[in-house]
Amino acid sequence: MSRTQNSEDLFARARQIVPGGVNSPVRAFGAVGGTPRFMAEGQGPYITDVDGNRYVDLVCSWGPMILGHRHPAVVEAVSDAVAHGFSYGTATQGEVELAEQIVARVAPVKKVRLVSSGTEATMSAVRLARGFTGRSKVIKFAGCYHGHVDALLASAGSGVVTFGLPDTPGVTGASAADTIVLPYNSVEAVEEAFRVGADVACVITEACPANMGVVPPRDGFNARLRELCTANGALLIVDEVLTGFRVSSAGWYGLDPVEADLMTFGKVMGGGLPAAAFGGRADVMANLAPEGPVYQAGTLSGNPLACAAGLATLRALDDAAYERVDAAALAVGQAASEALAAAGVPHRLQRAGSLFSIFFTDAEVTNFDEAKTQNTAAFTAFFHAMLDQGVYLPPSAYEAWFLSAAHDDEALNRVAEALPAAAKAAAAVL
Ligand SMILES: *Cc1c(COP(=O)(O)O)cnc(C)c1O
Repeated sequence: MSRTQNSEDLFARARQIVPGGVNSPVRAFGAVGGTPRFMAEGQGPYITDVDGNRYVDLVCSWGPMILGHRHPAVVEAVSDAVAHGFSYGTATQGEVELAEQIVARVAPVKKVRLVSSGTEATMSAVRLARGFTGRSKVIKFAGCYHGHVDALLASAGSGVVTFGLPDTPGVTGASAADTIVLPYNSVEAVEEAFRVGADVACVITEACPANMGVVPPRDGFNARLRELCTANGALLIVDEVLTGFRVSSAGWYGLDPVEADLMTFGKVMGGGLPAAAFGGRADVMANLAPEGPVYQAGTLSGNPLACAAGLATLRALDDAAYERVDAAALAVGQAASEALAAAGVPHRLQRAGSLFSIFFTDAEVTNFDEAKTQNTAAFTAFFHAMLDQGVYLPPSAYEAWFLSAAHDDEALNRVAEALPAAAKAAAAVL
């Protein structure tokens, strides 16, 4: 059992003054219980908490740390940027270079606007889609996460095509009512929604969903969304905040080249600092202020330090780096699945490129309702046994596991050694 006194003390202090003691809910360990670990530093594939426990990091800041922690090229770029100045509220060269990198990698993106979070990117893309089309409704899929945008925090009502209900207090019925929530991977539901509902400004989808666990699009699903949007005068927004520059240098688009009208990016493109973006068709993006009438702005948008971290990260992501990420993800997914099988724990390993997650259920998961059939108690036992052995998994059964190019044999061996005991712990609560 690792020592957790310092994390416990910090968590107690935090809860006095920060709701739930954390600045983003999943960090509170609500789904798994126990003391959330407060991290003090990271190096390569490892993170170390305030009690000095070192973990193999399988969260990687939820994706951005694709090169591992403190990659020398990123440290150098950020240090250099720090030495020049933090923020000017003016245009800078780094923004132009980061925008050029995105446009060069992702063909449908002809113009791009930088923002500071994925939430801002999707919120702005939806606003732009509404401004461009003059329509108000948004189609989204249950289980797809696009940040905490009001219109996108809606749950499915009853029936296949009903308008959304607020997913959280504070989102108005009016805001959720403009959202149509459909089951993921159902082309029929989208066809039906377009049949009954005119006024659809856009369909927004995760390029490959990874926020309900990894649930790949069925073959041709994204392409069919493209056709349906075109046929009905709606825009297709493909959210690559998680997949962008992670599953390939062109993100999910590199594996499944469906031309979106607008795309959103974040996570990897900021290299661990707050940078995100939305971009797409030149004629659509031309509607954005100051070129066009749709307003969007940000004091720290294109921040020099964030651009330096993002640029250095993208430039360091050569083919060899992607091969290491892919190989590490393959190895960890396979080892986890084998350990669970050996212990007799029903589970399903779902992969999409270097993305993967393990559902603690034995049937294929194609949508959110199916994801919810999993045995979260088994995951909780598994999670804590891994944590005790120095492996930091996402503290929820509904998250992808993230690898980096820094996950070397030593780190992968440590994960492999921890798995059998964790699988037995999961088996014990079945
Ligand atoms: C993380 C994520 C977001 C939100 O990004 P933030 O930077 O946390 O606001 C949006 N969409 C997807 C697909 C994500 O994974």
